[in-house]
Amino acid sequence: MGNRAGRRGQLIVLSGPSGVGKSTVIAELFSQRENLYFSVSFTTRKPRAGEEEGISYHFVDVAEFQRMISAGELLEYAQYVDNYYGTSLKLIQEQLDRGIDVLLDIEVQGAAVVREKCPGAVLIFIVPPSYEELARRLRGRNTDDEPVILGRLRQAREECRRAMEYDYLVVNESVSRAAADIQAILRAQECRIQNQMQFIEGVL
Ligand code: ADP
Ligand code: 5GP
Repeated sequence: MGNRAGRRGQLIVLSGPSGVGKSTVIAELFSQRENLYFSVSFTTRKPRAGEEEGISYHFVDVAEFQRMISAGELLEYAQYVDNYYGTSLKLIQEQLDRGIDVLLDIEVQGAAVVREKCPGAVLIFIVPPSYEELARRLRGRNTDDEPVILGRLRQAREECRRAMEYDYLVVNESVSRAAADIQAILRAQECRIQNQMQFIEGVL
């Protein structure tokens, strides 16, 4: 009996300072893992070069974002360095109900809301090997102006203080190692007794 039968998808939250390498590690994870859905967030931020509507984000204006908040369409949302970001409740519920794991790349305030609303979620915090390396990555990415980068570095210090609110910490020194750590966390999560009830009731 496959242990996915009748199983609800696992909600996975990945947070970490901007520029730590979340998108890079997530891309690596998706190249290795099936049955995983990336929750494309809604944001009022302007697209960066190379970002596509519906793939990186759903880009909306502030009025539309406020409408979504009022209509209760967001599982969580937060303001982060002058822009709003939020997760569509409907999109992720559909996937979880079909037994598909859902990955959220969200910042710490949103993660705290998910922790409260979704007790079964697994929360992973990803950090750079050093603050200097984070600054190098942010500048090396070449996507933001210096004032934006400085804002994100300030925010990074605040965010890292909240790492204790998470279940796991992953250091992104090498992308392949960080992806392997997350794979190990997800495998352990799948093996948890409460995620194996279908197997226990059906076979044992
Ligand atoms: P985030 O999604 O967390 O904002 P990105 O995935 O955009 O971060 O990565 C920021 C920059 O750091 C990119 O230029 C990326 O290529 C680089 N990067 C990511 N992971 C590593 C790593 N382990 N070592 C060196 N550079 C990395
Ligand atoms: P960026 O502008 O670099 O793409 O993202 C900035 C921050 O917003 C990152 O920490 C990212 O994890 C977070 N973020 C992206 N989508 C969401 C979301 O839907 N909700 C929340 N709370 N944060 C998000």
